[in-house]
Amino acid sequence: MKSKNLFVLGGLAVFVSLGVLSMSGAQSSATTALVGAHLIRGDGSPSVSDGVLVLEGETIACAGTRAECPVPEGAEVLDYSGRYIMPGLVDAHVHFSQTAWIDGRPDVMYLYENYPYSAVFEGLSEDAEGYLASYLCSGVTAALDVGGFAWSIGFAERARDRSDAPFVLASGPLLTPMAPPVYETETGEAMMIGLGSPDEARAAVRQIAGAGASLVKLAFSTPPGEREAEWIALLHAVADESHVQGLPFVVHAPEPIMAEASVRAGAHMLVHNVEGVPVTAELAVLIAEHGTIVTPTIHAMPNWSRAMRAAINLTSPDVDDPNGCLDQATKARLEGISEIVKPEGAPPIMNEQQIAFMEARDQVAIGLSQANLRALYDAGVTIALGTDAGNPLTWHGVGVIAELEAMQQAGIPARDLITMATLNGARAMGGADEFGDLASGMRADLVILAADPTTDISALRSIEGVMRRGELFRMGG
Ligand SMILES: [Zn+2]
Repeated sequence: MKSKNLFVLGGLAVFVSLGVLSMSGAQSSATTALVGAHLIRGDGSPSVSDGVLVLEGETIACAGTRAECPVPEGAEVLDYSGRYIMPGLVDAHVHFSQTAWIDGRPDVMYLYENYPYSAVFEGLSEDAEGYLASYLCSGVTAALDVGGFAWSIGFAERARDRSDAPFVLASGPLLTPMAPPVYETETGEAMMIGLGSPDEARAAVRQIAGAGASLVKLAFSTPPGEREAEWIALLHAVADESHVQGLPFVVHAPEPIMAEASVRAGAHMLVHNVEGVPVTAELAVLIAEHGTIVTPTIHAMPNWSRAMRAAINLTSPDVDDPNGCLDQATKARLEGISEIVKPEGAPPIMNEQQIAFMEARDQVAIGLSQANLRALYDAGVTIALGTDAGNPLTWHGVGVIAELEAMQQAGIPARDLITMATLNGARAMGGADEFGDLASGMRADLVILAADPTTDISALRSIEGVMRRGELFRMGG
């Protein structure tokens, strides 16, 4: 088996091959046994102490006790006594086309002169290449891109074939009745496709299906108000055509009216929890009964305020990056923050009073978001980890730890957080028979930890190794 060290030098993740490890006297073996570790299942069943994980190439051949999984003769044996091995994490809500800084969202932050979007767009796919390593370094072995450019689809396809990148599925451009024109680049590429009528909605679904998208993403950012009937007609058109095309559709609908309509229309996933108001018991039960998956995305909105605070003060925000995984492009953006020149004559982005108001509001919003998560959990909703990475200060890969800790603060037991972050994420990606658990036949996508994540999810702050498709990356030098 090949083993590699994952060095993180000044944010630049470098995969250094150590060559093929093999038992003395044996050829490099396709069979490897990781022995002695606590094996943590993705399906919530009890952990196995002093377990054995037998790997055949990129597949788990056996996961269990020493009696259940005898080490095959000639296998390469790696001793992980005292360590904790869990399935690789799945982030079921990311955007590879967003930079995790304010230049990636020109529709919201008025800094066009500093960050002409056509220039930002030029570098996006190159930046995204760096994010792949950040995900893997953070233990994320699969990621679902729910809104990007047309290139996001090919980008995801290429990542899937690699061992040094997570497994990625992508929706391509998202569909919405409220597409702001600012995203459209000079070459006419767009991150959003505007929907003016049900016929346009069906055509848009056929367009992205034809481009090879793995799912359809639909967004309703605000309460529908007087457009409710129009939006529900668009929703049904997208639902119908997605069904015809054989694609699941997922919906951004953080307010209850469109969230409920989306669940009733057969949405595979709500990519945010209900925000701004308490979720009703009736809606929570409805979501559970329909089997709709929800990614709570607790930190995405508060991170916007932090980004605006940084932009106003021109000081770098705090970065919580315990495993040293932040990508180089993001580091460069943050280091360059003091050089931002505000446009001549432009109004301030936001004054002190406004930002203070936003920050106070965020504290309430986080509490409400956590209460809504707890309500969905108690109602039996299938919840998956989703960060909304790529939004300002919601870091690619690195952001999963803060998100899981916020979910833990909501009162979700760490044992269940692991299911949300692994097998439920695989369900969100339609791959629960291929990854998200430690079981025979599953792909060998793993995280190796020094501490027990079933008692405290913060154990993910000290990742020792990540395995993707049977290839092991050790952290540090
Ligand atoms: Zn999103």
